[in-house]
Amino acid sequence: MLKSNKIIVIGGGYAGLRTIEYLAKNRQNQITLFDKNSYHYMQTEVYDLIANEEDFAQVTQDLFTFCLGFDGNVVFCKQEVMNIDFDNKKVITDIQRYNYDYLVIAVGARTKFLSSIKGLKEYAHGIKSLHHAMYFKQKFEMSLFNKVREGGAQAKPLNIIVAGAGLSGVEISAQMASYSREFYDRNNFICRGLNIVLINSAKNILPGMDEKLVQKSKKRLNKLGVKVKNEKKVVELDGVNVSLSNGEVLPMDFMIFAGGIQPSPLVYKLDLEKNSYGYIETNEFLQVKKYEEVFAIGDCTTIYNDGKTLAPTADVAEQMAEYCAKNIENLILDKELQAYKIASRGMLIALGRNYASSKVLGLYFNGYIAYTVKKLIERLYALRLSRVAKKGCKKIFEC
Ligand SMILES: Cc1cc2nc3c(=O)[nH]c(=O)nc-3n(C[C@H](O)[C@H](O)[C@H](O)COP(=O)(O)OP(=O)(O)OC[C@H]3O[C@@H](n4cnc5c(N)ncnc54)[C@H](O)[C@@H]3O)c2cc1C
Repeated sequence: MLKSNKIIVIGGGYAGLRTIEYLAKNRQNQITLFDKNSYHYMQTEVYDLIANEEDFAQVTQDLFTFCLGFDGNVVFCKQEVMNIDFDNKKVITDIQRYNYDYLVIAVGARTKFLSSIKGLKEYAHGIKSLHHAMYFKQKFEMSLFNKVREGGAQAKPLNIIVAGAGLSGVEISAQMASYSREFYDRNNFICRGLNIVLINSAKNILPGMDEKLVQKSKKRLNKLGVKVKNEKKVVELDGVNVSLSNGEVLPMDFMIFAGGIQPSPLVYKLDLEKNSYGYIETNEFLQVKKYEEVFAIGDCTTIYNDGKTLAPTADVAEQMAEYCAKNIENLILDKELQAYKIASRGMLIALGRNYASSKVLGLYFNGYIAYTVKKLIERLYALRLSRVAKKGCKKIFEC
């Protein structure tokens, strides 16, 4: 009988699932996926979740049925990994210890609530977890409704602060502005006051992104009435007001913090080489230093293109997964490993309902076409996962 390869994947995000899709094709690979949640959360669609374009079922995929949908060689364990004993090749979860031959660490990142900002953790919301995004979505809708209940043109405006003008901060600001505008327009409500202020510590929004996309996004935010405050930092919030680094004090009903990410808590516990921001360092084959059978991919690590750090995106995470899967196969077959060559394949920025700005394969598209392309990519991704999960579901109900 042929020996099976015990592979453990930690994290059912974009990187983890793509790795499984590749490795599961080889029936000798016995794969176990660990995730602390029972679902895969499609963070790239959170802007539509908040604006009620999608419900939570559309931005999640059940991990149990997904794993069951393969040919009997993938198993899902809803367990949080607490530590890893690299020398003895054991993953330690909140329940048990599991052996592996090969290990993939794909635990992603989470919102970095800076302790230097007073009141941030207490009064601001992150959107990196579905739980927080759902809470915020409901709060946003309820606030709009409360304005309608107050009624009249005199109703106090609703003040929403978004801190951080990277991709997620920009997309969410635009989507909320455009959604609320339609919300009031549709039924001709007159209690329209909604102030969305985007606080940005850098000189310009979307730092590091293509200049044309930055300019388009700026114009669009302006058109939607989002006020952008560049080169300002949030220094304190008390639930009623936000104080900025230039002494300005802004009223707030609620705040989203999209001002930074940090690796998932597990990464801090691991006895591995990390960079100065705490992300796992890998070699050109995506192996961690010291352990050739251990790979780290996705947002919990950092990779480079021409010496420059690549922005952590789902696109990059999936490309890393493909290299990682190939290299595990190469290790098993005692073949030469492949050095990664990864670059962003395109950028699509959602800027309100039915509008996006994009650069794909060097070409720029704006407006409805770009939005349609973005939605198509997201739908195809969800469909790909759902096809596998449907097979898994069928197995359960046929039993
Ligand atoms: C609002 C927003 C918009 C975005 N828009 C885009 C976009 O348009 N395009 C794009 O390419 N990217 C976008 N991104 C970035 C993209 O979502 C991330 O880069 C991507 O999710 C990274 O994938 P990952 O697999 O590394 O991590 P994740 O998708 O975060 O998955 C990590 C998984 O690990 C699990 N996990 C963590 N710790 C443990 C543990 N100890 N034990 C077990 N399981 C654990 C988590 O539950 C999670 O399922 C956006 C992000 C946000 C927040």
